[in-house]
Amino acid sequence: MEQIMKSQTDSNKFQKALLEWYQKNKREMPWRSKPTPYRIWLSEIMLQQTRVDTVIPYFEKFFKHIPTIIDLARTSDQDLLKLWEGLGYYRRVINMKKAAIHLVENNNGKLYDNKKDLLTLAGIGEYSAGAIASIAFQEKVCAVDGNVLRIMARLYGDYGNILQPTVSKRFTDMVEKLLPDSSIGDFNQALMELGALICTPKSPDCIHCPVMNFCIAEKSMLQNELPVRDKQGVRRKEDKTVLIIQFKNRFAITKRENRLLEGLWEFPVMDGHHDKDEVIETIEKWGMKVLSIAAVKKEKALFSHIEWDMAGFHIMVNNKCDGMTFEAADKIVDEYPIASAYQKYISELL
Ligand code: SF4
Repeated sequence: MEQIMKSQTDSNKFQKALLEWYQKNKREMPWRSKPTPYRIWLSEIMLQQTRVDTVIPYFEKFFKHIPTIIDLARTSDQDLLKLWEGLGYYRRVINMKKAAIHLVENNNGKLYDNKKDLLTLAGIGEYSAGAIASIAFQEKVCAVDGNVLRIMARLYGDYGNILQPTVSKRFTDMVEKLLPDSSIGDFNQALMELGALICTPKSPDCIHCPVMNFCIAEKSMLQNELPVRDKQGVRRKEDKTVLIIQFKNRFAITKRENRLLEGLWEFPVMDGHHDKDEVIETIEKWGMKVLSIAAVKKEKALFSHIEWDMAGFHIMVNNKCDGMTFEAADKIVDEYPIASAYQKYISELL
């Protein structure tokens, strides 16, 4: 993984850029204008499976009817469900009431002020506990949701599958290291706001991103490849047909221009698996006359997020073509950096 923030100074610059952007661009939300612990808790629970725009009118109505944790503990389930009607995932509000009763009985009706204790309350998981503890109480903990995982994958150019717990834990550790010493709640909200407004799943608005200078995905144009969300936890499979094209005692190679393995050399390749006739047709389209063709071994190549399933052909031609370099086998072996996936076909030259 490439390093983007090598020093504390870099981290400080990152924090400053993000926090300044947040102060100028954050959306108005009722729980942001009067951020009491109860209001922040209520907002975080309502936002769990619901969009901000939908939540705002529900939040205002709910808070008007039930302004304190003590009121919440006393309200009937039926009244709570009525106030929640249309928001869905009704267990959320029933759990809030359970937690409120617990807080009335054990903490004078006040919300716990740290992540560890918040995690003991019904309906509060890792993310919500981090969000509430940092926003309401400025505890130095992170709040990592899907938005934040996406940003981290892109910032660090990391192809880890964010659906795997070990990967999300690793990304969470990376966020922890980025936390500033103060304004923790704002920092966490700034990351989430960045994910909602700028670093969106499709077409992120990098040009307006406050942390563009720190972003590997932006530098290498990997925004559309990241994050990796692979439900099976398996690599994406791609079929390739590798062509060992021989003219006299020289073999065709080309330089890779696309991102994966960029700058290395490879044998000409066709996407997908093809039979002899399709290969001959392609070679002739490239301007070469085929003298003979024979299938060679099949190989696999594994990358962090892709698996290539390679079939191959050895083709003798009676002329060279433009756009390919023809070299003797020993020169290819000694002087050209051949992508390791293709090294498996080097034996065909010898
Ligand atoms: S530069 Fe683009 S990809 Fe990188 S964090 Fe910003 S919006 Fe996301």
